[in-house]
Amino acid sequence: MTAATVRIIAVGDELLEGRTSDTNSTRMQRALGVYAVQVRDIAVVADRAEDIAAALDRTGAGDIVLVCGGLGATRDDLTREAIAAWAGVPLVYREDVAAQLAERRRLRGLPPLAAGDKQAAVPAGCEPIANPVGSAPGLIGVLRDRRVAVMPGVPAELEALLPGIVEGLRRLGALAEPRPTRLWRTAQMTEAAVARLCEPVRARHPGLRWSWWIGEWGVDVRIGAEPRDRAALDAAAADVDAALGDTVYARERSELPLVVQDLMLARRSTLAVAESCTGGLLAAAITGQAGSSGYYLGGVVSYADAAKIELLGVDPGELGRHGAVCGPVAEQMARGARARLGADWALATTGIAGPGGGSQEKPVGTTWIALAGPDGARSGGFRFAGDRDRNRRLAVAAALDVLRRELTGDRVFDAERLSWRISPR
Ligand code: ATP
Repeated sequence: MTAATVRIIAVGDELLEGRTSDTNSTRMQRALGVYAVQVRDIAVVADRAEDIAAALDRTGAGDIVLVCGGLGATRDDLTREAIAAWAGVPLVYREDVAAQLAERRRLRGLPPLAAGDKQAAVPAGCEPIANPVGSAPGLIGVLRDRRVAVMPGVPAELEALLPGIVEGLRRLGALAEPRPTRLWRTAQMTEAAVARLCEPVRARHPGLRWSWWIGEWGVDVRIGAEPRDRAALDAAAADVDAALGDTVYARERSELPLVVQDLMLARRSTLAVAESCTGGLLAAAITGQAGSSGYYLGGVVSYADAAKIELLGVDPGELGRHGAVCGPVAEQMARGARARLGADWALATTGIAGPGGGSQEKPVGTTWIALAGPDGARSGGFRFAGDRDRNRRLAVAAALDVLRRELTGDRVFDAERLSWRISPR
């Protein structure tokens, strides 16, 4: 079977004005990534009926057309009207959808809409797909020989609707069986480093589809195969396992903080943190997971030297000798947090996130992470190469990964092949 062609149309003035980045297209691509489809183009168009119609005109019979944005209740949201006009079909007011929308308003304490809710109007030939987190339902149907799916623009709504949309496309016969795939999620590695490790495997197993991308905690790698190439996929997967080794924190869609949480809960261990350059982001990542109260005790955001001294007991002499960004201070921060919060383990971060504050000896991105545990404290230096935001996120991911490595018995700070590591103190 030849791969179906997918065309994505992202609707929204804000996307063209640079106020919002089109992350929805990426989400839609990923949702279809395991199917035998070929995304041919992504059009970003204004909230104008003629522009939406022009983009639809550029699609072909048989295509899968994914449209997002402009499904809201306001007047400038006109995607559903534009699609119906382009297809030459009427909008049908669906009482069942209207009842769901009215119930949603009632639950939120809002009065019913006098004129009825325009979000209950569905182009004839389309079916609504219930929106679990918002009001505008998704739409799916065959219009002018295209398999068309329409989703709201709000990313969280789109994400929640995508499984229903994929299921709907399968019902329409637009998607064949998913391709077998394998996923690896790595931490503390650059894309280039992951690619370098995977390159020999790729050369040994031609004909598979590789993709890698930067995820929230590191670089993710996926390989996919046609169903008939399952054996080749298994062989390649074994080689990737060997090549990536302990840089892999998950083999499925699991987040690094959740992996750490599961390890900590299984050991009934507790954690505290002491944060300087990450300013609370590490605690936020940890507590972003439901169930984190089962192991996370709390943390200290000790930004100024005085806070490190007073709240964590860091030695002023050590701060004077090396400055706040060094292994000994990171270790004292971790020890202080561990002792004061009475935790089994404590992580500490201290670094120069940038853009200012760097020096020749400690350029922007220099960060020290320490882990204190029952056997004392250890630390490692990193030199992240991003901007302020990225350096702070990389520090969070590295800190979580340091703990993961400790709990899984891997080398924690001496893993030479990890990216960004700098030599000791
Ligand atoms: P609403 O009911 O909120 O009006 P909608 O379907 O009409 O939903 P839009 O009004 O087009 O959606 O977009 C709502 C918000 O979602 C926008 O303000 C924008 O921030 C975000 N958004 C829209 N399109 C995208 C996109 N392609 N990628 C990322 N975010 C988007």
